[in-house]
Amino acid sequence: MIGLNSLGRLHFKIKDTENVHLTFDDGPHPEITPWVLEQLSKHQQKATFFILGKNAEAHPEIVERILHEGHKIGNHSYDHPNGWNTPKASFVDNVLKAKDIIDSELFRPPYGKITPGQISMLKEFKIIMWDVLTGDYDQSKDSQKMLERIIKKTQPGSIIVFHDSEKARENLFFVLPKYLNYLFQARINSAIIP
Ligand SMILES: [Zn+2]
Repeated sequence: MIGLNSLGRLHFKIKDTENVHLTFDDGPHPEITPWVLEQLSKHQQKATFFILGKNAEAHPEIVERILHEGHKIGNHSYDHPNGWNTPKASFVDNVLKAKDIIDSELFRPPYGKITPGQISMLKEFKIIMWDVLTGDYDQSKDSQKMLERIIKKTQPGSIIVFHDSEKARENLFFVLPKYLNYLFQARINSAIIP
């Protein structure tokens, strides 16, 4: 059971804003992340990258580039443990190990799975969930339908999850440019998570 107190610490949308919030999980990836950065730059939109400590260690120059281009980084753990079947102490250790590499007050639990006990031990972080999951990592899904569904679900304050990962590559390359185009047409701004 997740109690009210711990639930209140999870952010599914950002209140009091007309902006949306693009987020990219599981990077940085040496080819996909630079491609994402180019798409964002072309459309002058900002995003938050929830990166893995192990990937940040492997590609520090991409982390630098993310920050240099005005985007934000968040902690997505060191190597993506599942909070529901990881003991509290080792889960927290994994997040804190990533914190040494990723300087951010934002944390997004891998798979969105976190227990009340883990939440209470990570009080220094703002825990960021989402209201729009693209499902881009699911290669069995139809990209066009995915795009239409994401557009339909987008609201003021929405937090949208994409993945700059190998698994998501095909869907991401189809959906992201078209979604950015939609935001442009609809005059919707994507901002970093405050
Ligand atoms: Zn992830």
